[in-house]
Amino acid sequence: MSFQSTGKFDLVICDIDGCLSPESHAPINESALSRIAEHNRKAVVLSDRPLITLCSGRPISFVEAMCRFIHNTKIPCIGENGVWLYAPAVNVFEMDSAITNEHLEAVHDASKLLREKYQASGVVEQPGKSAAVTLYHPDTEYLRSIMPEIRAELADRGWPFRVSMTWFYINCDLQHVNKATGIARLFAKTDIDPARTAAIGDTLADKFMADSVSFFACPANADPEIQKSASYVSPYDEIDGVLDILRKLDGE
Ligand SMILES: [Mg+2]
Repeated sequence: MSFQSTGKFDLVICDIDGCLSPESHAPINESALSRIAEHNRKAVVLSDRPLITLCSGRPISFVEAMCRFIHNTKIPCIGENGVWLYAPAVNVFEMDSAITNEHLEAVHDASKLLREKYQASGVVEQPGKSAAVTLYHPDTEYLRSIMPEIRAELADRGWPFRVSMTWFYINCDLQHVNKATGIARLFAKTDIDPARTAAIGDTLADKFMADSVSFFACPANADPEIQKSASYVSPYDEIDGVLDILRKLDGE
């Protein structure tokens, strides 16, 4: 699997929520998304611009669907914060081989414990994850309030989780798997040169992306903390910001 452009960058690795799709559950801006697809079609035909792939905490089935929407037919995308790679060129899903059966048992046990403790309060586990537990509640302040005790509960049992908060979710991810390990696997499977890659993200979990590439950018809606890691912050929100960043990269 390979891709090289005649521009300064070969690959842009883009987060989904808060970047290509709204952070909320609002509809996706399909006309803007179609411009991302057009960008990728031209990249494949003309090799004059970077290809855009995805790196998201979302379940890999959601990421696969987005990968097909944006017409990335070449380079793997990353789901579940590094747990999965999906290679669109060959239609292959691959879980990180550093995830053992013992890790999967800890995920299962954590899911069971958190369901027992918080289901009655209306906390729901996001469906479709394989090696992580993601929790949602319509009252984000309530969700935020229980995060410290969830982190302590999992640590007390010696389970190897990194507990973090996105805008609307609590992510309990395996400690040794993150967006950087996913991107490292992507680089190992392709001939992409990290020095010729850029990334776009909007929350602190995307620091793992910023540290893996040579140019990191944020849309205007990004968390002020992650903006500190960016070489460029677009004045536009979400996908309009991504389109602006792509124009910026074309000019680099
Ligand atoms: Mg995001």
